[in-house]
Amino acid sequence: MKRLRLVVVGAGVVGFSTAVCIAEALPLCSVTLLSEKFSPDTTSDGAAGILFAAEFPDVPLERQRRWFKDSFDHLLAIAQSQHAPDAGVMLSSGCQIFKEVPANKTPFWSDLVIGFRIMADGELKRFPDHKFGQAFTSIKCECSSYLPWLEKRFREAGGQVEQRKVNSLQELSDGFDLIVNCSGLGSKELVGDAGVYPVRGQVLQVEAPWLNHFIRDGDGKTYIYPGIHSVTIGGTRQEGDWRLHVDKGDTQSILERCARLEPSLKKAKVLSEWVGLRPSRRNPRVERERVQLQGCMVPVVHNYGHGGWGVTIAWGTALDALELVRKCIQEMPQQAKL
Ligand code: FAD
Repeated sequence: MKRLRLVVVGAGVVGFSTAVCIAEALPLCSVTLLSEKFSPDTTSDGAAGILFAAEFPDVPLERQRRWFKDSFDHLLAIAQSQHAPDAGVMLSSGCQIFKEVPANKTPFWSDLVIGFRIMADGELKRFPDHKFGQAFTSIKCECSSYLPWLEKRFREAGGQVEQRKVNSLQELSDGFDLIVNCSGLGSKELVGDAGVYPVRGQVLQVEAPWLNHFIRDGDGKTYIYPGIHSVTIGGTRQEGDWRLHVDKGDTQSILERCARLEPSLKKAKVLSEWVGLRPSRRNPRVERERVQLQGCMVPVVHNYGHGGWGVTIAWGTALDALELVRKCIQEMPQQAKL
């Protein structure tokens, strides 16, 4: 009997989350993940990985809340299980502080994280430049551990993995009945999406084991996120900047800005520096289409363009992509499903 052959392109947090959801939910299909780069060489690997989000302008808020909630609940269950150290997932408490009181004091995810509250004036005294703060417990998901953990889970569900650059979707039309595109910034070329652009981010890993709480400036440019083995400090948000090398000026600026928020960081040893390009888009593209490939109409499900929030919403968008895959399969002629 012929099995339906599905391919997922991309081995970042979006690709592996989507591949796991599909392989576990559709055991009768053959699922292959193809990617040019794997952990530790994806953008996802260097993300601070804190669950936190800004609003996308044109996605209904209910859908964004579902993406956030599904991801948060999935990772919370891991953080509270014996899998937490292997998967690199931990609870993380701290605060987001603002120099000016924001128009929206309670973001859409405020009731989805744990213990969200507005900070008291007394708590803000240690941040003399800031007037307003939000304290809450979120999750830090370290993809350098989480991606290999997801890959193992994918293989256990029968998934196959292959390292290969896909130059065009045409290349896949012979071997697969359905394509799932999770190629992040690669979608600019792979599917010719001119709306995809990089937002360069530089971060440092420092040794500061005395720090336990995260601090994020509401402008999104300066943050301190204690993790399992080190503390991630950042950062930069440089739109349209494709440079992948470390900029020493950025390093200096990150150290200065972070030490202003947490003076003890002046004593921290810098362990490493890293640059990644956020796969940005006005809104993430989580939708399906049918594409003419070598004379056949092939269903394609897209799941890319998560910008600075890919770790936060990967599982939620993966579940949406799975539903789109199911719809594509339902609409296939009976013969293709045999
Ligand atoms: P990627 O990780 O870039 O993966 C794309 C995959 O597609 C790669 O495997 C690539 O090789 C493959 N690919 C591309 N083109 C092709 C092709 N043609 N053929 C084959 N394979 C292809 N997010 C958060 O939620 N919280 C954070 O705290 C956070 N912090 C961040 C800090 C920094 C400095 C940066 C840079 C990002 C941060 N992010 C954060 C954002 C997060 O990293 C991204 O949203 C996320 O990694 C996107 O995942 P992805 O799987 O779509 O892309």
